[in-house]
Amino acid sequence: MLIAGNWKMFKGPAEAGAFCRELRDADLPDDVDVVVCPPYVSLAAAAQALAGTEIGVFAQSCHWDREGAFTGEISAAMLKELGVYGSLVGHSERRLYFGETDETVARRSAAALAEGLHVIACVGESEQERDAGETDAVLRRQVSVLESDENLVIAYEPVWAIGTGRTATPEMARQAHETIKEILDVPVLYGGSVKPDNAAELLAQPGVDGALVGGAALTVDSFVAICRSPS
Ligand code: PEP
Repeated sequence: MLIAGNWKMFKGPAEAGAFCRELRDADLPDDVDVVVCPPYVSLAAAAQALAGTEIGVFAQSCHWDREGAFTGEISAAMLKELGVYGSLVGHSERRLYFGETDETVARRSAAALAEGLHVIACVGESEQERDAGETDAVLRRQVSVLESDENLVIAYEPVWAIGTGRTATPEMARQAHETIKEILDVPVLYGGSVKPDNAAELLAQPGVDGALVGGAALTVDSFVAICRSPS
């Protein structure tokens, strides 16, 4: 079971360091892998605060080249140098606001994996796509461009459930995870308004191997409560 907290564009270095020191001292279950995904500028503070612990620090994206004329981008090699353990790729906010495509997501994922980073690749349908009965086709398209790897995890995040307070029903999550696993035999996380009060039910679904958490990962208490909910 893996629980990852995506901080999005929240928490500068001072706040990130304080959060991670509190998390380090929290009572986390031994059988749950815990990951935080701070913004780039806070990765060093998080990695320093969590050094020597089992809690992983992930970036929120990374570029496919090692270096080059790509203003505003960061490479997997640079992340490794900071002590970062992995990266998200293809979060729906990147697809929606920053022109990320299935192809660029696949390139970012492949480069990070080749560099030895772990990857959480995000996929998921929009509300319009679900209403049009296209969920299965969208997931198949988004997942089939990714190469299987022992360090790859997929996060199924229905776009209409992210930051909205709406969650997929446990049955929707179960079905989507089944579709994804038909294409790639990798762990699949559920993401979309996971909170301490709904985490246990979602995490109990067959094929749900953990959660990617946004809003509820921003306070130590609620994030720890979610990490403890599978047990
Ligand atoms: C996310 O950012 O990946 C996410 C799932 O956000 P939230 O939990 O706030 O819906």
